[in-house]
Amino acid sequence: MIYLDSNATTQIDPAVLEAMLPFLRDYFANPSAGYSGGRTARSAVQRAREQLAALIGADADEIVFTSGGTESINAVHASVRSLWPDKPDLVMTGTEHTAVVESARRWKDQGGNVLCAPVHPNGRVDLDALRQLVQPGKTALVSIMWANNETGVIAPMREIVEIAHTAGALVHSDAVQAVGKIHLAVHAVPVDFLSLSGHKFHAPKGVGALYISHRARFAPLLVGGGQERERRSGTENVPGIVGLGTAAELARQHLDDGTKARLHAMRDRFEHLVHAAEPGMRVHGGPEHRLHNTSSFCLPEIDAAGMLLLLDKAGIACSAGSACHSAALHPSPVLEAMGVNARDAARSLRVSFHRFNTKPEAETAAHAVIEAAQKMRAMQGDGGLVTAH
Ligand code: PLP
Repeated sequence: MIYLDSNATTQIDPAVLEAMLPFLRDYFANPSAGYSGGRTARSAVQRAREQLAALIGADADEIVFTSGGTESINAVHASVRSLWPDKPDLVMTGTEHTAVVESARRWKDQGGNVLCAPVHPNGRVDLDALRQLVQPGKTALVSIMWANNETGVIAPMREIVEIAHTAGALVHSDAVQAVGKIHLAVHAVPVDFLSLSGHKFHAPKGVGALYISHRARFAPLLVGGGQERERRSGTENVPGIVGLGTAAELARQHLDDGTKARLHAMRDRFEHLVHAAEPGMRVHGGPEHRLHNTSSFCLPEIDAAGMLLLLDKAGIACSAGSACHSAALHPSPVLEAMGVNARDAARSLRVSFHRFNTKPEAETAAHAVIEAAQKMRAMQGDGGLVTAH
């Protein structure tokens, strides 16, 4: 199988697994314990905290380990809502991940207002509209993703932070897709909160973190034993955290070793080959501000659900829109927010490369897409059949 769905999840890097194994097998003591085993676990957690902080330009004590992106996002929204009850507004965009959308729904259910800033057709938020929506005394939080999971579009985070802070609002960024893929420096682009998830950059599933700026007040979502300096109770997932720290260290090395350029060239080669055979191909999101690993595109008249079946048969793993939607194949709200019509949204595929992919794999995948498109066209021509066998 050629795995081209790394925005959905990634394989664990072998070095990450190696780093984790001793903490699954031998060093199992509770990091809160006072004896030497506890100290070993505690110092491993601290090392991981430093490794992760280095990846995003934070201080180690600004990192709180969580179970992943969804928990981090929910924790920030709940905290801000409870600490600033007099500021009812949460401002986001129409292209947020369902973790943000559903958490915002809860914000609304609890009496707050949720305002959605429009995005341009290139997927980037309309900053003038954002400026109008963010109101001093009303907006508690601006929650905008750093990079989009479906299209790879990268947000103008510096400008977003400036608009929010000028109005006295806090900023949270869902950076689940950005961390490990692009350089982030949270002190230079001073978001107040940032969510990240290990399984998107070669650490295991079920471990992530929340960056909480020194400036920000925070009320924990989970209370209990007071771990993570009272910011997230629960016995630490030591092996997962060690894996996350190791993955962060590796990601930091790969940001500067030519991996990005290699993936960029691979992705562009894929798009070039498909486009040459399918000139009607439309890539979503502008070329400039897009993650180097992501390609979201539609092929005219070709249904994505059938394409996915044929591609699966050909040994290519990719997705239609986001993974969460692939079972139901609803047209992607992200693409709709970008002005893509519902039909084209339902014809859209996403391939997302990772550092273990090779150029021949990208080429094989492009040829598989072209072949599947031809088959689909033939089948659809034969009486509108859209499913593959
Ligand atoms: N935000 C984005 C942009 C994502 O892509 C994902 C994962 O699908 C999440 C949040 C949720 O992260 P997790 O799976 O760690 O809960």
